[in-house]
Amino acid sequence: MVKTSKLSVSQSFLKKYWDYQNGLECGYALYMIDIMKQLERKPTDPMLTGSWFEYLCTGSINRNGTIPEPVKTTKGMLTAESKRAELQVANFKRLIEREKFDIQRVDETLEYYFPNQNFKIKGVLDILGFKDDSEAILDIKSSGLIGNEWEDYGWHAGTFNMRRKLNIQVVFYKYLAWKTMGVRDIPFYYAIHSTKNEIDFLFWEAQLLDFDVSMSHFEDMLLEIVPDIEMAISFGFTPHPEVRRCFKCPLTEQGFPCEFRRDTPEKQTVIIDGIY
Ligand code: SF4
Repeated sequence: MVKTSKLSVSQSFLKKYWDYQNGLECGYALYMIDIMKQLERKPTDPMLTGSWFEYLCTGSINRNGTIPEPVKTTKGMLTAESKRAELQVANFKRLIEREKFDIQRVDETLEYYFPNQNFKIKGVLDILGFKDDSEAILDIKSSGLIGNEWEDYGWHAGTFNMRRKLNIQVVFYKYLAWKTMGVRDIPFYYAIHSTKNEIDFLFWEAQLLDFDVSMSHFEDMLLEIVPDIEMAISFGFTPHPEVRRCFKCPLTEQGFPCEFRRDTPEKQTVIIDGIY
């Protein structure tokens, strides 16, 4: 059991916890990796390409202090995605210049300890700077889902409002900027670059319809969900083993023991209630 005073809630942890609540994430993996920090998730190739792209755009380095590397083929050549990322850098630099976004700091960490609570929230801003004489946040995305209106991580302006796994970042960071920097409703921009071609990229400003209402909903959500998380830390997260999930799980990949692991499927019962 960990002391709940160590609980640090990031927007990526929130998303994983939502997945856990919906049975899409294994609770034991979440506990071991994201709370106990016993092991790390191995970054996927799209994540590695995204980190490298950001490094080329802003000089942002990995959290462990290493320099991001491009993903290469077995022959040591840049993959097609890495080559496209390299080409997208010029788009980003042109955008910054055209929009007169004055970059001040990259990878700025903001932390806020909730008063009278045993947790903090934490976020790392890709870029903090100025636009139109106002302090502003710019987040860089590289995505193969530009224009996709169906997927959780699809970047489609008309459905962004419904994409809670994307738009929580806007609310989360605006809240952090308000509480830690004293900037109310800081402007939040996205530079979204395609990993499928070197042409498509988007520039969005994500606004809240009502800042005070969103901040209040956000606080309510945290004050509801954090006690659930603390309860799970005390009494145990529910494992959600499945053959494919366990096969790809970081605990399996990194040789950690897990008493819940499944390498055969759980029996399911199917009912026939007539002849159709
Ligand atoms: S091996 Fe399976 S049960 Fe164990 S933590 Fe991973 S996903 Fe969960």
